[in-house]
Amino acid sequence: MASKLINSLRNALIVILAMACVGYLAYSWSHQRGIENLRHEADTRLSIVSAVLQGPADKYSYLPGMIADHPATIRTLLGKNDPDVIRAANLFLQQLNIDTQLAVIYLMDASGLTVATSNWQEKTSFLGQNYSFRPYFQDAVKDGSGKFYAMGTISLIPGYYLSSVVKKDDEVLGVIVIKIAMDNFDNLNRAQERSLSEVTVTDENGIAFLSTVDDWKYRPIATLTDDAERKVKSTRQYERVLKAPLPATVETSFGPNERIVNVRLSDDRPDERHQVQYLARSGQLPGSLWMVNVFVPMKPVNLVAIRIAMLTVAMFGFLLLAVMYLLETRSRIHERERSRLALQVAHDALEYKHKELETLSEEMRIVSITDSLTGAYNRRYFLDVVGKLADDIHHADCALSIMMIDVDYFKRINDVYGHPTGDKVLQLLTSACKDILRADDVFARFGGEEFIMAFPATDEHAAQQIAERLRTSIMARPFEVNGQMLSLTVSCGISRYRLTEETIDETIKRADEALYEAKSNGRNQVVVRV
Ligand code: GH3
Ligand code: MG
Ligand code: MG
Repeated sequence: MASKLINSLRNALIVILAMACVGYLAYSWSHQRGIENLRHEADTRLSIVSAVLQGPADKYSYLPGMIADHPATIRTLLGKNDPDVIRAANLFLQQLNIDTQLAVIYLMDASGLTVATSNWQEKTSFLGQNYSFRPYFQDAVKDGSGKFYAMGTISLIPGYYLSSVVKKDDEVLGVIVIKIAMDNFDNLNRAQERSLSEVTVTDENGIAFLSTVDDWKYRPIATLTDDAERKVKSTRQYERVLKAPLPATVETSFGPNERIVNVRLSDDRPDERHQVQYLARSGQLPGSLWMVNVFVPMKPVNLVAIRIAMLTVAMFGFLLLAVMYLLETRSRIHERERSRLALQVAHDALEYKHKELETLSEEMRIVSITDSLTGAYNRRYFLDVVGKLADDIHHADCALSIMMIDVDYFKRINDVYGHPTGDKVLQLLTSACKDILRADDVFARFGGEEFIMAFPATDEHAAQQIAERLRTSIMARPFEVNGQMLSLTVSCGISRYRLTEETIDETIKRADEALYEAKSNGRNQVVVRV
């Protein structure tokens, strides 16, 4: 009982473990597939965002060269000390900036000092500012043109800086720069349509300066290194706007540019439930030190993985139940078949035994009513059968005759030829008697060398005739025993059943008396006593 319980518990545990394993495998597989899809989606987004960000730079790439080659530009640099020349140049750049819808256009002399600018009238005018430290200035002086993404040191507006050197007869006079603003992020948002993913663009220190989520803007997307923090502080670039790092924890990192992160929705709610899980992928914006980071929400992937795991577990459970049911049914059918066969075997054995008993009992019955030496019925059987015959006679006209037969001087045969010869003679006499029998007649050995017959529906006269026939045929035909011919005679006594007689015994007694009389009268004769 206890071991059965332990077995059941063990089986249940195995099934639960198997289901847990199947569920886990299905979840992992689906999750992995989901991440691969997200990776693909993130890469597409990265390419689109990079293309969108780079578009304007390509569109305006011709412009700095065109301005640099313009005679007015060269004239301005040559006459930079003349206020009228500078004023005319400022107005020219201002109008050009309006026409081209750029952020700013400015002209520097060979030392990097801004001599004319489209924003000359604004508070944040570049006039008098020196940008010789900017790579776009240095590249233009060195290679003729420069291209750089940077954050405006005064405006804090990120943008593309495209530059071109201004020369006269191989002498560097200055550098013209146009800035394409990236502040409104409209292009990025357009690329974001129908996408749940978020995008940030981070500078070389990892600080997001463009983001589809306002709250993420001006946050380092990871904690700043000491070096980067020093650098950010010294340039005072984000002095007024820099916020705490993005409240994100990296859950799994697949490499430098791919990771699963949990981002808290806002600083006020540190609760884990308000975290959003993203697959984050980053790629460098060509021609810059900036990184474009795409954050694709993991929630749909997790939900699908859970659903697939649950469905798989349910299907596995169903399959398991079906298999168990089939096995159970099969074993039940086998059990039933085994029982049926066992029952059949038992039944066959019983039937065989029954038949054996029947045969035995029939054999015993035959033995019990048969004389073993001659094969004739015995005295008991005769009395039984003929007693019943007598009981059935209720009318005087119905005859029933009895005849007793006794071998004359039989003792002598035993004495002269031996007892076995006497036995043989009794057997031969039996078959001689049977020869005269009719279907309804009853014949038996009554004892020793004495035989008895009953003739139903036969009166004493008919019986006498039968007896005479028997007596004469025996007398006329010697018996052959072991090559010797033995002649013998028989005496017969006949009686007829009377309705007044209580039992057949009285009739037999009278037949016996008739036989005695036949003996007394000299043997070899038939005497009738009705
Ligand atoms: P009777 O003419 O007066 O009938 O003379 P009997 O000799 O035939 O009659 P008795 O009664 O004197 O002898 C009968 C003999 O039959 C005696 C017995 O040994 C013999 N006997 C009885 N049963 C058998 C038997 O089964 N086999 C043999 N061989 N002899 C038997
Ligand atoms: Mg006798
Ligand atoms: Mg005799």
